[in-house]
Amino acid sequence: MRWKIGKVTVTKIVELETVGQTRFILPSATYEEIQSMPWLMPRFATDEGRLKMSIHALVVETPSRRIVVDTGLGNDKQGRNVPSWNNRQTPFMEMMAAAGFPPESIDTVLCTHLHVDHVGWNTRLVAGRWVPTFEKARYLFGQVEYMYWRDHSVAPDKAEIFRDSVAPIVEAGKADLVASDARICDEISLIPTPGHSPGHVSVHIRSAGEEGLLAGDVAHHPCQMAHLDWCSTADSDPVQSTKTRDELFTRLADSPVLVIGGHYDAGHIKRDGDAFKFVAAD
Ligand SMILES: [Zn+2]
Repeated sequence: MRWKIGKVTVTKIVELETVGQTRFILPSATYEEIQSMPWLMPRFATDEGRLKMSIHALVVETPSRRIVVDTGLGNDKQGRNVPSWNNRQTPFMEMMAAAGFPPESIDTVLCTHLHVDHVGWNTRLVAGRWVPTFEKARYLFGQVEYMYWRDHSVAPDKAEIFRDSVAPIVEAGKADLVASDARICDEISLIPTPGHSPGHVSVHIRSAGEEGLLAGDVAHHPCQMAHLDWCSTADSDPVQSTKTRDELFTRLADSPVLVIGGHYDAGHIKRDGDAFKFVAAD
């Protein structure tokens, strides 16, 4: 999938697609509730009310930069809570290269937040050591987010994620800690969208009179646009995440801003009664 925002191109590289395996992450999204939102079908849910989601990286090409936003699960990782996320062996890097993005062509890696499914390909295992996958890139981590996980990765799985996918980047001298509203280049800047995680950021794109927003996990799925208080079990602060959804979607509603999620495809947010709905882009 590929979308244009002015002179900027966003390409989705899929690592994993799921249908209906999301009850553990969005417990409020029962089949019956999803079926009552026909605007989700067929792009974002099945007729039976099963949610369609993906774990993917987004490659953002500006006239001067080639940025990977979020890096999925990665290969060879251990200690993950979801069994199938351990010791993965997929040709994701080969798929990126085949799409025209070999790792050495990437100049910037940007993580919207430091959860397990957004940092995995930051590193790869070489001769028993975790090394930066994108060897010519600077890696941008939100300062608030980085400090939080550095100091709070107490649970064994969290410690493992930080140890294998974040710390090696810092140790290799390739990390830059940035403010949650940092300007990355002419076309790209960050917007603080906390709640899902303490320092979660969204990526704003503006080029040639057009705008886009890579919203990360502000919502895991468009059904949360209709139910702002449907929190993901992974939200660190459900009150704040609900507030962030309300503020962000209010700002974007009925505008031409193209929104692309951390786990769903592009579309436009429309006001719908007290909340919102999402209309898939072509
Ligand atoms: Zn995620």
